[in-house]
Amino acid sequence: MAEQSREQAKLRPCIVLLGPPGSGKGTQAELLEERLGIPAISTGDMLRAAVAEGSELGRRVEGVMEAGELVDDEMMAQAVAERLRKPDTGHGFLLDGYPRTLGQARDLEAILGEVSARVVTAVAIEAPEAVLVERMAGRGRSDDEAEVIQQRIRVYREKTEPLMGYYKRLGLLERVDGDQPIDAVQVEILQALSAAGVVPPSEGRIREQPGRV
Ligand code: AMP
Repeated sequence: MAEQSREQAKLRPCIVLLGPPGSGKGTQAELLEERLGIPAISTGDMLRAAVAEGSELGRRVEGVMEAGELVDDEMMAQAVAERLRKPDTGHGFLLDGYPRTLGQARDLEAILGEVSARVVTAVAIEAPEAVLVERMAGRGRSDDEAEVIQQRIRVYREKTEPLMGYYKRLGLLERVDGDQPIDAVQVEILQALSAAGVVPPSEGRIREQPGRV
């Protein structure tokens, strides 16, 4: 057992951010990236970049994204595996928007095994539905029209919410109230991460040790 935990300690930490669309996951991921000195990897941003470039992946996912549906698990696994092989993930990384289905959570375990990493915590940012809708309506993204917003929330409830149970059973789930000002949410996340032993207890020490989560 001690041997196993020593082995686990050598693996690079992966922090998973969970939460419905509009929960502020992306904003919080960027703040954490700065504070912890590890990259925040947003699959939504990766896919939007692919669409903007007009790459083959972009052409394949554009319609699915516009409809508020999920890109299939296999395509996502490929994109994420490729991204995690880049050297900037050397001290660990945050995942914003992946996994989003139970299948993706299992794919992630396999991918992390290949790159010597492991999920250390899954932070779920929660907020009431009215708050989510209001925030998304204010973003002006092409998949943020009223109908599509509703669809994305439905897809979240059906396919992504079960991941809370998945990570809870693994003892890795931390829940955070996303219906607060941005800074207050960030503090709650950092507290959850330090309570889980993922980052040092004080913010000051976190600042002094970028990349040492
Ligand atoms: P996001 O910016 O995370 O809200 O993602 C925007 C859109 O990209 C989603 O509505 C999906 O269509 C697609 N997408 C992002 N991440 C994933 C994922 N892990 N699995 C499937 N589709 C995804």
